[in-house]
Amino acid sequence: MTCLSHVGSTTKVLAFGAHPDDLEVGAGGLLARLAQQGAHVIAAVVSVPSMLAERVKEASAGAGILGVKLAILNYEKKCRVEDIPMHAIVAQMDTLVNDIRPDLVITHSANDLHWDHGLVNRATVSAVRRWPCNLLAYVSSYEMNAQVSSRSMGQCFADVTTTIDRKVDAIAAHQSQLRNIDLESTRDLARAMGRLAGVEYAEAYEVLRLRF
Ligand SMILES: [Zn+2]
Repeated sequence: MTCLSHVGSTTKVLAFGAHPDDLEVGAGGLLARLAQQGAHVIAAVVSVPSMLAERVKEASAGAGILGVKLAILNYEKKCRVEDIPMHAIVAQMDTLVNDIRPDLVITHSANDLHWDHGLVNRATVSAVRRWPCNLLAYVSSYEMNAQVSSRSMGQCFADVTTTIDRKVDAIAAHQSQLRNIDLESTRDLARAMGRLAGVEYAEAYEVLRLRF
């Protein structure tokens, strides 16, 4: 088990996104930074809800830009997370956790209003029930979740100053989704989080479990 302040070639990170672009939008800066620091980072996408071939290609390009390894859990046909039985998703995640034995797992926030994102949070929490890793949660779109008055911003910040450009480029790789994504607001949000954290650009995370 490596401490997050000593990330290196022995550090293993497993990140879950419900759909192909969620990790880039919510955690792309941190994933790219951890990869840059030498960590073995796996970006696991649970489902591809539309345009299967195109979105798999975009996810592959996004992962390549972040410098992480892509794993698509349900790639045979297009579907949403809610179409897959919860026990099947947890079993797939169990297998990944057992194989990778991650030091850090990153997943969707339970407070995310997107139903599929909330399901991935529940499945992840269940899959790491016996594995002693650090666990962080992200909100993949603050605009989409703006009306959640009870949601806090998160308890920790990741400095993504060195990887903000890579994050924006990785989001831009999802060409089919760009009509729904404002790349400038991604940068603006990271700058605002950076101001709060005392760095230039940051991402905010909820701490679900932290060992140091
Ligand atoms: Zn999503």
